[in-house]
Amino acid sequence: MRINYAYKFRIYPNQEQQALLTKTFGCCRFLWNQMLNERKRVYQQLKHDKEKLYTYKYKTEKEYKVLFPFLKEVDSKALQSVTRNLNTAFQKFFDGLKNTRKIGYPNFKSQKNKQSYTTYNTNNNIKIDFETKRIKLPKINTWVKYRNEQVITEPIKHVTVSKTKSGKYFISLLVECDIDISQKKIIKQSKIEAFDMSAPYFLISERIKMNNPRFYRSEENRLKRLHRRLSRKKKGSSNRKKSQLRLARKYDTISNRKNDWLHKLTTCFAQEYDAIILEHLNIQGMQQFNKGISKSVTLDFSWAQFVSTLRYKIERNGRHLVLVERFFPSSKLCSHCGWKNLELQLSDREWICEKCSTVHERDVNASKNLLKEGLKILQTNNITIIPTVGTTGSYACGDGVRLSIRKQSSKKQESTAFR
Ligand SMILES: [Zn+2]
Repeated sequence: MRINYAYKFRIYPNQEQQALLTKTFGCCRFLWNQMLNERKRVYQQLKHDKEKLYTYKYKTEKEYKVLFPFLKEVDSKALQSVTRNLNTAFQKFFDGLKNTRKIGYPNFKSQKNKQSYTTYNTNNNIKIDFETKRIKLPKINTWVKYRNEQVITEPIKHVTVSKTKSGKYFISLLVECDIDISQKKIIKQSKIEAFDMSAPYFLISERIKMNNPRFYRSEENRLKRLHRRLSRKKKGSSNRKKSQLRLARKYDTISNRKNDWLHKLTTCFAQEYDAIILEHLNIQGMQQFNKGISKSVTLDFSWAQFVSTLRYKIERNGRHLVLVERFFPSSKLCSHCGWKNLELQLSDREWICEKCSTVHERDVNASKNLLKEGLKILQTNNITIIPTVGTTGSYACGDGVRLSIRKQSSKKQESTAFR
């Protein structure tokens, strides 16, 4: 199977190189905004004449280069990728209109946000010297230093250069590689776990109850203080810039800690379990949950990121990730007798089955139902499941996750409780 693989290196451009990169970021941003503006203008003019609108020929980046000659000074492949990215953004937006999944209209790019550009490898114009740890990028005539120990053997497809708000530079190298994946066809039930993604916990199953370390929450006061300090600084002053940088760095640190935790968790899951069963994410439900809640909460509960990270790790290990469809009423069914509690509210954390009188903890019950449903799906996909006889099965993963979380979590927070 051919898969795309991305490597991310931090680079350390010198002042001259930084100036060139800034220029490229600026030109790409400028072109993007010009093209987006053209589209908006044309739409306003021709919105009543659909035929003309659909066949309208927008200016290409070559025509823009004639109009604005300074664009010729930067990497032409980077400008080409702007056109490509804008087209993709519009395609996604239009597809979103047809589906239930809403995707926003492309935005203008601002100098204040993260800067980036993508360039393609043609005729070996991107070179890496792994011995001296330097990379050569198109139109940047000198070698740029980087820091990373990995050696890439596959040919590079494209490179994205970025600068974060905190002033750090990175390159993300995309390669295509061939890997041999043989999917497991026979799995033990003890190696299968179903989790409910719930608000009070991050993940919860019959055997595992995991607390979310809440990295953003634990730093909420410091973040608020930094935001407050920034708001007091005069616009355009150097003190404001310094303040902005300090805030961006704080966000960086927290997001690094969170990502580190998330990666350790997903790696451990992908190694320990043969199949993981989750609920298909309900975006609208999550938006409801997000309503009126501070940003620190939304940033701390990032299931979408968790699922996508877990998915590629699991697939590369030849294991299974089962996503149970959204309309499956995992919370409402009694996992013991199958009675459906139609009156169950989001606020009900515990309920009693009217038919068999079992007392249910909401999320645990949901995970039990997900497990049943997930096992069915696995079986319909011709996976043989060896049932567990007698006791509870494997807890092996617990220790690894607990360790990595304990290291990361703040003193105030309780680490993780497994049961
Ligand atoms: Zn029941």
